[in-house]
Amino acid sequence: MDASIGVLMACPMSLYLEQELDKRFKLYRFWAQPSRQEFLKIHAESIRAVVGNATAGADAELIDALPKLEIVSSFSVGLDKIDLNKCKEKGIRVTNTPDVLTEDVADLAIGLMLAVLRRICECDKYVRKGLWKMGDFKLTTKFSGKRVGIIGLGRIGLAVAKRAEAFDCPISYYSRSEKPNTNYKYHSSVIDLASNCDILVVACALTPETRHIVNREVINALGPKGVLINIGRGPHVDEPELVSALVEGRLGGAGLDVFEKEPEVPEQLFSLDNVVLLPHVGSGTVETRNVMADLVIGNLEAHFLNKPLLTPVV
Ligand code: NAP
Repeated sequence: MDASIGVLMACPMSLYLEQELDKRFKLYRFWAQPSRQEFLKIHAESIRAVVGNATAGADAELIDALPKLEIVSSFSVGLDKIDLNKCKEKGIRVTNTPDVLTEDVADLAIGLMLAVLRRICECDKYVRKGLWKMGDFKLTTKFSGKRVGIIGLGRIGLAVAKRAEAFDCPISYYSRSEKPNTNYKYHSSVIDLASNCDILVVACALTPETRHIVNREVINALGPKGVLINIGRGPHVDEPELVSALVEGRLGGAGLDVFEKEPEVPEQLFSLDNVVLLPHVGSGTVETRNVMADLVIGNLEAHFLNKPLLTPVV
């Protein structure tokens, strides 16, 4: 590889990826620059690639500031932090890391369902605080057989469905079009889906159309016994509406891996035992993050060696 090729990493994401990029390219760490403006003044002309993730990618401002940018390679499957239209306009290639993280995210979705319904985190605190000695833990709610509704039956949505089926859960879904090759029940509106399931899982891509796809009406349709699982993106859910529904008991519970303004999490949620809060760790296993890193590197190498990209989006 030509070690003079400038690659800008948008935020910290993987030490392994940093090491591997350092070996092959001239890696710039955007977050470590005292002044981003000054940095861009000096180095903008030498940067030919940006590596982003679910936290920071390449918005219109950054793309405009990098006249030699050829490729944005995302260490994520979601592309919501990349201005795709701008990339298309300017002929900038875009890649992501699909498939390799699907199992981890789907596993975690099931983990959240079990944790919320069986109160696993609350039980753990109960034991650690010595409360078991005072009496048995309260009864919880059964998971097997619950009706699971999925927003977005893509790679992750399907993997969640497959896992939930093993728990005898009837599966239904909402997406823009009915999928021909499944036996799962299709609902043509999210409200309809929410009204007909016990657990609603958000697994669609974040786009302007899916922002706040879970709003007050959807939350009310899910109801006081319903549980929301969000392993998509924070802005899929109208967070203040979610918080008030949980506080007022209009929603039964929630398992959340993602939030609207990460790493900020509404503090009203901290005291609720029917809520399980995770710090956006859907794909966060050593195994998967390393495979994701290899895919980012593979895409960059392919691009700069004029070979076909491994996982092209644009
Ligand atoms: P995918 O295979 O592309 O699936 C995305 C799904 O979103 C598709 O089924 C698509 O269905 C649906 N969708 C798109 N626009 C929609 C709309 N307007 N209304 C309803 N559904 C819509 O992607 P994936 O690999 O499953 O990943 C899905 C998302 O999970 C990612 O975009 C990312 O945001 C999130 N994710 C989160 C984590 C985490 O750490 N929590 C990790 C990885 C990914 P139709 O085309 O049929 O509408």
